[in-house]
Amino acid sequence: MRRTLVPWVLAFSAVTAVLAQQTIPTGQSAGQGGGDQFLDGIGETSLIARYVFNGNAEDSSRNQLHAKMLGPSGAFVEDGPPRRVLLLTGDGSYVQLPSAALAGEDAVAVVGWLYLPTRATGPVFDFGQGPANRLFAVVDAQGFRASAVVGGQVRGQTSPKVVVENQWTHFAVVLDPASRVLTTYIDGVRAGQATDVNVTPAQILPQASTTNRLFLGRAQDDSAPTLHGRLRDIRLYRIALGDEPIATIRRNALAVPQAARGRGAAPEISTANIPRESPFAARLLKISDVTVETAVGMMPRLPAYVPATYIGGTAGDVRVIWPSPTDNTEVLKAGTYTVAGRVPGTLLDAKATVIVKEPAGTTTPPDRLVEAFTLNQVVLDRDAEGRDTPFIKNRDKFLRGLAASNPDNFLYNFREAFGQPQPEGTKALGGWDSQTTRLRGHASGHYLSAIAQAYASTGYDPALQKNFLQKMNYLVDTLYDLSQRSGRPAQPGGPSVADPTAVPVGPERQTYDSNLRAGAIRTDYWNWGTGFISAYPPDQFIMLEKGATYGTQDSQIWAPYYTLHKILSGLLDSYEVAGNKKALEIAKGMGGWVNARLTALPAETRIRMWSRYIAGEYGGMNEAMARLFRLTGERKFLDTAKLFDNTNFFYGNANHDHGLAKGVDTVRGRHANQHIPQITGALETFRNTKEMPYYRIASNFWGIVNDGYMYSIGGVAGARNPNNAEVFPAQPSTLWENGFATGGQNETCATYNLLKLDRQLFMYDQTAKYMDHYERALYNHILASVAEQDAGNTYHVPLNPGARKQFGNANMSGFTCCNGTALESQTKLQDTIYFHGANNQALYVNLFIPSTLTWAERKVSVQQITDFPYADTTKLVITGSGRFDVKVRVPAWATRGVVVKINGRDEPVKATPGTYLTLARAWRDKDTIEVKMPFAFHLDHVMDQPNVASLFYGPVLLAAEEAEARTDWRQVVLDANDISKSITGDPATLRFQIAGVPFKPFYETYGRHSVYVQVTFK
Ligand SMILES: [Zn+2]
Repeated sequence: MRRTLVPWVLAFSAVTAVLAQQTIPTGQSAGQGGGDQFLDGIGETSLIARYVFNGNAEDSSRNQLHAKMLGPSGAFVEDGPPRRVLLLTGDGSYVQLPSAALAGEDAVAVVGWLYLPTRATGPVFDFGQGPANRLFAVVDAQGFRASAVVGGQVRGQTSPKVVVENQWTHFAVVLDPASRVLTTYIDGVRAGQATDVNVTPAQILPQASTTNRLFLGRAQDDSAPTLHGRLRDIRLYRIALGDEPIATIRRNALAVPQAARGRGAAPEISTANIPRESPFAARLLKISDVTVETAVGMMPRLPAYVPATYIGGTAGDVRVIWPSPTDNTEVLKAGTYTVAGRVPGTLLDAKATVIVKEPAGTTTPPDRLVEAFTLNQVVLDRDAEGRDTPFIKNRDKFLRGLAASNPDNFLYNFREAFGQPQPEGTKALGGWDSQTTRLRGHASGHYLSAIAQAYASTGYDPALQKNFLQKMNYLVDTLYDLSQRSGRPAQPGGPSVADPTAVPVGPERQTYDSNLRAGAIRTDYWNWGTGFISAYPPDQFIMLEKGATYGTQDSQIWAPYYTLHKILSGLLDSYEVAGNKKALEIAKGMGGWVNARLTALPAETRIRMWSRYIAGEYGGMNEAMARLFRLTGERKFLDTAKLFDNTNFFYGNANHDHGLAKGVDTVRGRHANQHIPQITGALETFRNTKEMPYYRIASNFWGIVNDGYMYSIGGVAGARNPNNAEVFPAQPSTLWENGFATGGQNETCATYNLLKLDRQLFMYDQTAKYMDHYERALYNHILASVAEQDAGNTYHVPLNPGARKQFGNANMSGFTCCNGTALESQTKLQDTIYFHGANNQALYVNLFIPSTLTWAERKVSVQQITDFPYADTTKLVITGSGRFDVKVRVPAWATRGVVVKINGRDEPVKATPGTYLTLARAWRDKDTIEVKMPFAFHLDHVMDQPNVASLFYGPVLLAAEEAEARTDWRQVVLDANDISKSITGDPATLRFQIAGVPFKPFYETYGRHSVYVQVTFK
């Protein structure tokens, strides 16, 4: 993630050779098969809801958007055993989907099966706000057709296609605003298409609306007849499915399976105009050889950028893609070997000499030389002009929402699991905390962390702080009370099971299950073992041990340890931030419960558990357990942390032959946010054990991900291969080839965790690269993830051309994973601006955000006054005195020279971009430090397609504003000698234009955008 230092003098004529396209083996993604990751080759993040109607109206997707049967007689009938289907008889019966099921989407596809009796007709589906705004499909005497209506005007209508009566017909309706078409399919082939359809689903069904009416078998017009017919397997997708995937869905249902994985889930963005040769190819003369040393067994980290010489003798560097072996065979013996690297889009190779040496001795584990300040030591300030900064605005959106929230809503599922009554006024959460969602309770953990952080951060407002303290204590008291019930008799002398390993199946059940339906959920807490706390009974934990996979059947589960990690983190945050001792007691109890169950399992069982897609996702349970050890000194918790070692990921195999611990890329094809918290957990385990493999796992992972898997906003994942918006591409350094999934990229919770990793690695290794990434991702993803006017926030942040962000959960009532981490991110925005040396001899200024630090240990305060990034200067004012080093980050993008003034006088400094400069002196009261770091425009190219890049100004990613959806990449022509000559605008507002196209900070972009553009040079 560095800018490419290339002289922009280019000539294309010399490149005529057809460049060999890189071939990359696919299907090597490690241990990520199975589960519900794919349905008919389409990643589950694209599936909004699925109503099979095999006996009920439940949504069998993970979103659990269950439907309601309404009217006199809708019924599920046998349709050739063992299948049941929905029967509607045209008597006013219909199905209503939750309003939130279709809201604010960018594209939509409705797919399902329909059976029409002789001369039967009626509405198939009708999604809208009323007769004047709707997307619907109807079948009548002419046949099956679809329409989109906005403001009472028909914006698109397909010609009808006759449907054969008395047999099942597969249908699909796709509204694709990027291509401006509304398409119908009958039996897997196109049946009708309306063109120039200038409407998006979000216009008809807005994000924030609670008045969306989503019907199956009924029209928006209340007096219109209802459907006479049968329905089954109705699916809603949030992507514009193309011909091939619709045909595949039908074919698979008819049991004519074909290879369904991989690409093709939706129309691809056109790459037709994008050349394969690099824009630098003709100018690149020579690539320097590099030499790298490594120890026997350890894969070397080869540099992503290598020095290069361009025509005219200009020095620069060039991106190189090195081979990435899947084991460490090459370095098992001492000696020297060479590696050839590829320069994408050129015929040139790079050469690396790798010297493999026997280690000279044992490696000394690094010490933790730097610490963060506590949250109450740093307060965000307004900028130098007295304006609220984007950080303050986002913080306050969340503080307002949290202050107004009802903690009982976040306790609802816990009380229900323990069979306890709900206080008056309590409302259950929706989203992934709804009644039957097997992840319920996860948001409560994030909420507890956020409340604790909000309490610690609001010393400037005592009333607000008291609000958060009361909430935190109430949450903890309630959870404590529930946890004390587990494994103990409900009445004196009653039965109970105290041993966590002896939890029996639920009453009147044959087996453990994940049935959480109201009235069916087991609530026999006295049988659950002492210490247990969660928002559902223990069954999911036990089922995981017995091999249960991820899914929505009662025999399946959804990541019980993931949810538990959120709850434990919330409790530990309450203890560490506010000294709530009860919170620590709850965590100790549950830590003991987990320890008892996991120590009873053979190692092979644990390896299988942690390798299981989503089901075995455990968040950072290793981090929580290592932290619990640090806070209590109880050894069993550290032992428990190690029981969460994801052996295949960390060590390659059960023999610990390679893996991340030895620098081998085991990231390929893995679910990003399932695995990133495991890495911060490894680092917390290192903190408490000093065992080097855990440190290497974390630092190697960081290097592998930053070099090979990262988008320009600092986020990851979004693979086309394997086709899932939440997973890393199948091979490193192939974002163009295997990334940019249609379903989205950059899951926001994954970036939240990457930021945690940055700061924790920096504590051991004060290399600016960690904070360079922190700044990149903080401004361009975390800051960019919040809605303009409220606390709505993003799940994925799509970077395909003409995409737009979708903001959910504005009122904190229905959470995804990312809505959960947003609560945490936005209540600790000040936590990385400054660090201090562990011995308090140095102050690190990492970020240039207006703020005031109270460094109590030195009786010094530091005020940072700046308009950054709307200005390129920051000023630090010291109150108090003393001798210490001030270390200021010189960002990697600060290539135009950094100027430092102390008390107004120039201070000669060595300020190399990508390092920290050091100002050492005896500081006196009112001393000032001014740092000027001129911004420059620079490009961040896709590693395997250098013709596509993101434009930055200093740290700020500038996105092109788009008026509408796109099917191709926006083209931008830049001056070859100096790209800034092609750009006009105002640095004080960060609003720019290139040939009339407006560019502005991505974090201020709320409409359609192109974060990546195709660049050509003139
Ligand atoms: Zn997420």
